[in-house]
This record gives sequence, structure tokens and C-alpha cells, in this order.
Amino acid sequence: MLDLAIVGGGPAGLTAGLYATRGGLKNVVMFEKGMPGGQITSSSEIENYPGVSEVKSGLDLMANWPEQAMRFGLKHEMKEVLRVSKDKEIFKLAIGGGDVVEAKSVIVCTGATPRRSGVKGEDKFFGRGVSTCATCDGFFYRGKEVVVLGGGDTALEEALYLSHICSKVYLVHRREEFRASPVTVEKVKKSENIELVLNSVVEEIYGDNMGVTGVITKNKDGQIRDISVPGIFVFVGMNVNNSILLQEDGTYLCDLDANGNVIVDLKMHTSLKGLFAAGDIRCEASKQVVCAAGDGATAGIQALEYVNH
Ligand code: FAD
Ligand code: NAP
Repeated sequence: MLDLAIVGGGPAGLTAGLYATRGGLKNVVMFEKGMPGGQITSSSEIENYPGVSEVKSGLDLMANWPEQAMRFGLKHEMKEVLRVSKDKEIFKLAIGGGDVVEAKSVIVCTGATPRRSGVKGEDKFFGRGVSTCATCDGFFYRGKEVVVLGGGDTALEEALYLSHICSKVYLVHRREEFRASPVTVEKVKKSENIELVLNSVVEEIYGDNMGVTGVITKNKDGQIRDISVPGIFVFVGMNVNNSILLQEDGTYLCDLDANGNVIVDLKMHTSLKGLFAAGDIRCEASKQVVCAAGDGATAGIQALEYVNH
């Protein structure tokens, strides 16, 4: 029986593990289906993590977090958790492969994953010209033109990153105004090889056997434009990963808000005793690395108190 199971090994999960084990919990496992680090490892640069004044890649920022968290006894199991349920006072975690792990408390830190836009051709060409990660795939388009879809911080930051690799970036956004922070919008507007395609949607991503060869856009006046590109990067927001909370009877293990975010109080307690949530998965999250880490610390401290009392 684990004292604490942490699901997800991004900034929230790693920090929860650090605080819980350093605070004295002995039997703590962090289930992370991939390498620890979380979604920020797909970011080309981060410049707003306090105390880290040089601009780093997300991978570099997260490089030392697992070692620090594991120094105090946190264990990482590279496994996917399929479902968390509770039977009387004991939590049960269904793990890929048919195993069930029991725990006295659980912190859910499963974060979020990139949303698909639903555009025609997106699924067909995903991985063959359609990408949601500029750091991973930008290199393949060195010296070529690409389309970026979206108007939030991710789309604009990744458009800037791609503008240094690619010959030209068409930034397609459905409105006139951007959701991204003003400082990033300014940088994009100053870029010489980013063309803004505003008030426009992508109608279709098309291609051949090899992959994407072009993107068709339509503006609010109904004008169609055919942009010949071998790649399109889709950054249209994130979906929270709450599926592990879905029970066999179709209800959720704890209360969620209308967007599927886990409802927590200021101490990261969910509506179910012993179950905590931290980071991008929780309601009203600022969706920042520093905030996820702060949530993780709070949840770790609270889990420690729950198990010890
Ligand atoms: P995540 O980082 O999403 O980590 C969740 C982890 O849980 C993942 O590693 C996932 O593999 C794992 N997981 C999910 N489900 C399961 C399961 N069932 N079983 C096992 N493991 C599971 N923030 C900033 O502060 N500054 C920035 O400049 C910035 N730039 C960004 C750029 C990009 C491209 C993106 C995508 C995000 C950016 N963010 C930035 C936001 C930041 O990355 C997130 O707010 C932060 O990573 C959230 O941390 P988290 O631990 O809550 O979740
Ligand atoms: P986001 O802020 O939700 O923005 C998504 C963008 O995609 C919006 O501009 C939206 O348009 C557009 N969009 C949504 N669905 C679409 C569709 N089907 N077709 C076309 N366009 C569509 O998502 P995000 O940029 O991934 O950011 C997620 C969170 O992480 C935010 O809170 C963000 O601030 C944070 N983040 C922060 C940083 C940073 O601090 N430097 C970096 C990256 C991300 P509308 O604007 O019209 O709705």
C-alpha cells in the first residue's frame, strides 16, 4: 500500500513528490507515462520562470527536476494510470497492463494535451506535415514555409520560434485580436517573415502520399486562399487530462467544473477526502510552470498531513 500515489510527472507532480518525500512520506510513487518534465518540455523557450533569468528551452528548464525530487525517496514508475477509484478509505489505481495499485492518498497532476482543431485533413496528415510541437518538428521545415494556426500564447511564441528556422510563417487566426500577451504580439508584428492571416479559418489541409502540400484558408468575407506549404502547426488550446477520474458508472470521482477542470480549494483538496489535484488540471489554473509547481508543493504538504493524521 502506497502512502501517496502521484499521477503525472510534470512541474506539479514532480514538486508534489519533492515536498511529500522531503516532508517524511516514505512510500511515494509518481506514475508518469513518459519521461518526467511535462508539456513544457515541448516548448522552445521559457523566459518567465522566476530566478532563471536566461532564456532556456523547456527541456533544459526541467532537466534537473526529477533528480532533485528523487533525492528524498520519490520513485518514478513509467506507467500510464487508466483509472483512479476509491473503495472505503483506500484508493485503487488501475495501471496499464491490468495491475491495480492501492494508495492512502492520491494527487492528480495529469495536466493537459494539445487540442485538435477539427479541420478537414488534420487527422489524415497528423505526423505527416501536421504537428503540435515546433521544438520537435520545426527542424524538418528548415528554409521552408509553414502555417501556424491559433492566436494564443503558444501559437505566437511557436510562430516566433519557427520564424528563425523557416523562410516564412503564415499565422492564421480566426479573429483580428490575439489572445496572447501584448509583449508577444508585439514581437510577432515586428517579425519580418511572419505574415498575419487574420479573420481567417483553415478550411482544409491537403496533400499527397508523402504528406501535406498545402492549406486552404477562408476569411470572413468568404475569400479563399490556397497557401502551398509542406507543414502546418496547430496551436488551438489544450484539453485537460481528466479521463482517469471517470468511473465505470459514468460519474467522476470528484467534482469538475463545466470545462472538465477539477474543482479544488486553496489547499488543492478536491471534493473527495484524500484526493488532491494540482497544476493545469485544476480549476482556475493560471497554466504556468511556476503556478503548477506551487500547486504541487501545496498538494504535497496537504497529502503529508492527510496521511499522517
Ligand atoms: P503537465 O506539464 O501537462 O504534465 C502532466 C504530465 O502527466 C505529463 O507529463 C503527462 O505525460 C502525464 N500524464 C497525463 N496523464 C497520465 C496518466 N494517465 N498516467 C501517467 N501519466 C500521465 N508556462 C510557463 O510558465 N511559461 C511558458 O513560457 C510556457 N510556455 C509553454 C509553451 C508550450 C508550447 C506549452 C504547451 C505550454 C507552455 N506553458 C508555459 C505552460 C506550462 O507548460 C504548463 O502550465 C505546465 O507544464 C503545467 O504543468 P502540470 O504539471 O500541471 O502538467
Ligand atoms: P489558448 O490561450 O486557449 O489559445 C487558443 C487559440 O486558438 C485562441 O486564439 C483561439 O482563438 C484559437 N482556437 C481555438 N480553437 C480553434 C479552432 N478550432 N480553430 C482555429 N483557432 C482556434 O491556448 P494556448 O495558446 O495553448 O495557451 C494555453 C494556456 O497556456 C494559456 O493560459 C496560456 O496563457 C498559457 N501559456 C503561457 C505561455 C507563457 O506564459 N509564455 C506560453 C504558452 C502558453 P480565439 O482567440 O478566437 O478563442
